[in-house]
Amino acid sequence: MKLYTDEEMLMLSGVQHYAVCPRQWGLSYVGMQWEDNRLTAEGTLLHSRVDNPRTRRRNASPVVTLRGLRLASHTLGVSGIADAVELTPFPGAPHGKEALINSRKFTALPIEYKRGKRKTNDCDRLQVTAQAMILEEMLGISIEKGAVFYWEERLREYFDITPQLRTDVRRMFFHMHEMMRGGIIPAAQKKPCCRSCSLIDLCIPAISGKSVDKYLEKILAPTDD
Ligand code: SF4
Repeated sequence: MKLYTDEEMLMLSGVQHYAVCPRQWGLSYVGMQWEDNRLTAEGTLLHSRVDNPRTRRRNASPVVTLRGLRLASHTLGVSGIADAVELTPFPGAPHGKEALINSRKFTALPIEYKRGKRKTNDCDRLQVTAQAMILEEMLGISIEKGAVFYWEERLREYFDITPQLRTDVRRMFFHMHEMMRGGIIPAAQKKPCCRSCSLIDLCIPAISGKSVDKYLEKILAPTDD
């Protein structure tokens, strides 16, 4: 099994960008181009509130919530931060095989916070599935469920970490590593999500028919001053 080095590690948060649009991920992480819009700025603000690593809060229930947990997987070649991981004393919650932490048994539930509403695609579930797979590797446990909290709806959606989601996550990271190694940014394709994409201004030259490589070459060219 290939183990990725620290230098090859990709950012965990990129999985959602790739799921929405591989070109969006390529522009951001291969081409190092990023533009915020209102939606991404609100998302950044929300995460600064929910994933403060200094927060180690025990609420009224026996559940312990860890926030801003650092994650890394050398088999997937990815590292990042989990917004929140709920540890429930075992037995108590059917979230998977228990972990032994400080001589106590817990099951773990990764939770991602999103500013908007539930989506019809799997992009949020894929991000949480990636977190679950990394936690499994780090803690030697199994995780069967994940959750996404949607701020606009004030609603927590639970879902099963299915074999299909796991396969999709592995496949996505494999392709992302290939793109990173080869410096590949896929061609633009107009789709409904383009309307809310913060990179649309960078992407428009390709949408209008020019090659993105030429466009990036032009905007990245050294200036005389
Ligand atoms: S504008 Fe559309 S094609 Fe371009 S990066 Fe954004 S989502 Fe992808």
